[in-house]
Amino acid sequence: MSTDLLTASGLDAGYGGVQALWGAGLSVRAKETVVLMGPNGAGKTTLIKTIMGLVQSWKGEISFEGRNIVHDRTDKRVRAGIAYMSEIGCFPGLSVEDNLRIGGQFLPAAEFKRHIDDLYDRFPTLAQKRRALGGSLSGGQRKILGVAKALAGKPRLLVMDEPSAGLSPLFVREVIHVLGQFRDSGLALLIAEQNIRFLDLADRVYTLEGGRIGFEGTVQALHADAALERAYFGLK
Ligand code: ATP
Repeated sequence: MSTDLLTASGLDAGYGGVQALWGAGLSVRAKETVVLMGPNGAGKTTLIKTIMGLVQSWKGEISFEGRNIVHDRTDKRVRAGIAYMSEIGCFPGLSVEDNLRIGGQFLPAAEFKRHIDDLYDRFPTLAQKRRALGGSLSGGQRKILGVAKALAGKPRLLVMDEPSAGLSPLFVREVIHVLGQFRDSGLALLIAEQNIRFLDLADRVYTLEGGRIGFEGTVQALHADAALERAYFGLK
């Protein structure tokens, strides 16, 4: 039985008087890929931001590697080993290299220097464009930079909000391919998505509806539940 890296349970959260999460929770085990699906407005971004401490939970627990992090600021959660990639992915006004520096800011300088070379080996297009602004890259390259930036801090868990946002199907495939490589090398992933192609990466799936977790299980179980597929994805 593998251990939970991240456990969130009973989360209520929202904006001012508007409650967006109602007792939501999920877990991610070491080396596991979990995909969080749900229609627009279901609360996926809110749940991801609550896990990262970018939205404060009103109630509930969040622990990472057995330690309660619910009261920790976002930077402390990142230092603990959780990287976050927003829908935008990277800082468009900063160079590729400065984006990576921000991602790796909590690593000791010598370790970061070695690691950035590894990242450039892994992502040769970024190496060629290290002085280019993030915003000058194509949509797909910007997402790849976002992934590289998140990985620059050597996280054990990468939390991503809608990596497919704004991407053509070709680039969606490229991002899935890159994420698959890191999953295979042992990185745990939590991906909020509406694009069902990301299910190809998933060990387990959660669905959110109206701020509440609906389904939790394997991709096979999700596919076996035709009613769920219709409700969430409009498939027959
Ligand atoms: P999408 O895929 O469209 O981004 P989502 O599943 O990520 O949707 P959220 O963005 O988390 O959903 O939104 C959940 C609910 O919270 C929605 O009803 C939304 O209108 C509301 N909401 C989100 N952000 C805010 C905000 N800053 N202020 C007030 N309400 C908000």
